[in-house]
Amino acid sequence: MTRLEVCRGDITKLEVDAIVNAANESLLGGGGVDGAIHRAAGPELLAETRRLGGCPTGEARITKGYRLPATWVIHAVGPVWRGGNANEDNLLSSAHEHSLRLAAEHGVRSIAFPAISTGVYGFPKERAARIAVGTVRRFLREREHDLERVIFCCFDESCVRAHEQALEEAGEEFETWRAG
Ligand code: ADP
Repeated sequence: MTRLEVCRGDITKLEVDAIVNAANESLLGGGGVDGAIHRAAGPELLAETRRLGGCPTGEARITKGYRLPATWVIHAVGPVWRGGNANEDNLLSSAHEHSLRLAAEHGVRSIAFPAISTGVYGFPKERAARIAVGTVRRFLREREHDLERVIFCCFDESCVRAHEQALEEAGEEFETWRAG
């Protein structure tokens, strides 16, 4: 059984096998959680992502975590919100699914997701949380993996509530905790 958790805190501090980055297609860093991850990981991370040559929206790429407590960083590119009729839901789900596939391929046992696309990219929080939770549940049910913990890491309380609500609606048991 994989444990589902909601955590309020800074994803760069989490001691897990893999953290997911809400990256952009260039993979060259940016603001928000992306900037925080690059700062905490150190310049070696940018050197590695430069070699990857970008990543299309809806996909993900994996690198080492360098100075982060996490061993791996999975750089997922979520969609920019354009009003809801530009395939945003599928692209957000696909970004989560690709991340989980990479995690499974690397034997990851614990993974933390930020609320991809809900910052600068403007995706509505509740809708994004339902998609994140739904995609994780389907993956855990249908695919082979070693995942023991999946953490939804939220920076603010409204994000925590959105994930708690999505998990409750899905009838999942989960635990909420605060980091630091
Ligand atoms: P996007 O461009 O995909 O919208 P952002 O980084 O702007 O990405 O925001 C994604 C989410 O990450 C937002 O909910 C934001 O509050 C959150 N966030 C920002 N910094 C951190 C952090 N250090 N740890 C966890 N979540 C963070």
